[in-house]
Amino acid sequence: MHFSDRIQRVEPSATLAISNLAAELEAEGADVVDLSVGEPDFPTPENVVAAGKEAMDAGHTGYTSSNGIPELKETIAEKLRDDGLDHEAGNVIVTPGAKQALYEAIQTLVDDGDEVVLLDPAWVSYEAMVKLAGGDLNRVDLAPHDFQLEPALDELGEAMSDETELLVVNSPSNPTGAVYSDAALEGVRDLAVEHDVTVISDEIYQEITYGAEPTSLGTVEGMADRTVTINGFSKAYSMTGWRLGYFAGPEELISEAGKLHSHSVSCATNFVQHAGVEALRNTDESVEEMVEAFAERREFLLDRLGQQGVEAPEPEGAFYLMMPVAADDQTWCEQALEEAHVATVPGSAFGAPGYARISYANSKERIGEAVDRLVEADLL
Ligand code: PLP
Repeated sequence: MHFSDRIQRVEPSATLAISNLAAELEAEGADVVDLSVGEPDFPTPENVVAAGKEAMDAGHTGYTSSNGIPELKETIAEKLRDDGLDHEAGNVIVTPGAKQALYEAIQTLVDDGDEVVLLDPAWVSYEAMVKLAGGDLNRVDLAPHDFQLEPALDELGEAMSDETELLVVNSPSNPTGAVYSDAALEGVRDLAVEHDVTVISDEIYQEITYGAEPTSLGTVEGMADRTVTINGFSKAYSMTGWRLGYFAGPEELISEAGKLHSHSVSCATNFVQHAGVEALRNTDESVEEMVEAFAERREFLLDRLGQQGVEAPEPEGAFYLMMPVAADDQTWCEQALEEAHVATVPGSAFGAPGYARISYANSKERIGEAVDRLVEADLL
C-alpha cells in the first residue's frame, strides 16, 4: 500500500507511548500513579450532562448547520466579547474539540514550505499539524527563561522574518503552565505587525489560573485582524470526551476554513453543542471549585518537591508542572514508570529535554504517593 508523504512526516503522539506502557503495567496488576494525563479528574458538571440528555431527548440528533447551532455560536461570541474581542456569531466555527479547530486553522493558513514559529516547550500536536500542512518549523526555546516569553522577545525577533507566515502562542501553556505578560503579548504584536504574520492564540486553559489573568491576544491593539482565537470545553468544564471546541477570527478566515470544516467533520455533534451552551452560561461555581482544587494540589506538589530540593518554575495556569530532572529525561521517565510506577511525560516530547511534565490533575493523596515513590526509587 502507498502512504502519503504527508502522513509519513509525523510520528504517533509521544505521550501515547507512556500511557501504553502504563496500561501494560496496570494489566500486570501494578498500581500506577498516573501523572501523565491531560484531562481534569472531575466529572462534567451535572447541569451540563442534563442539558446534553435533554437535547438528545428533544431530538437534537441530526446534522446542524456546518459552523454550529446559532445559539452556541452566539453564546461563544458573547463570551469572546466579554474577553474584549469584537466578534459576532459569524466569526465563529464550532468544532469537535479545540484540536480540530487548530487543525482546520493550520490547514487553512499554512502552505507547503511556509514558515511557522513555535514557542518551545510546545504542546505536541502543533508540530504534527504544521508538518501535515507542509509547513517548516522554526522554534524559539523559552526554557532558559523559566518558560516566560517576555525575556525571550529578542530571540523571537531573531526567529521571525518576512518569511514567517504563522506564530502559535499558548497561554496558559501546556506543558509549562506559564501565563504570558501583557508586555510579552505586545512584543508579539510588534513582531507580527512588522512581518505581517498571523498568530494563533490557543486559550484552552484560560479559565484555569492561580492569580494571573491571561489577556486574550486578539484584544491587544493591532491584533484583532491577525489573530485566530482557539478555545474549547475539555479543560474548563471537564468535557474532554464530549469533543467540543471552537475558533474565532476575521470573517474571511471563517469563510475559507469553513470549506475544510464542511468537507471534513460536517459539524460538531448536535446535542453536545446544546450542552455547550449550558457550560458557557451556568458553570461558574463548578469551574471555581475545580480551579480551587487544582490550586491546592499545585501548592502541595510545589511544597513536596521543594522539600526534596527540586526547584521547578511555578506554573501560573493549566494543571502541569515542568520538573527539571538530573538524567536524560526519556530515561528518567522510563525509570519513574518501571521502578516507581509513576507515569510522567518526558520534556523532550514538547521540545524541552531535561524536564518531566507532571500533571497534577490527580488527588493530593496520589500526588503525595508519587513523590514518596520517586524518593524511594532515588529519582528525586
Ligand atoms: N491545546 C492544548 C494546549 C491542549 O493541551 C489540548 C489538549 O490537551 C488541546 C488544545 C485540545 O483540546 P481538545 O481537543 O480536547 O479541545
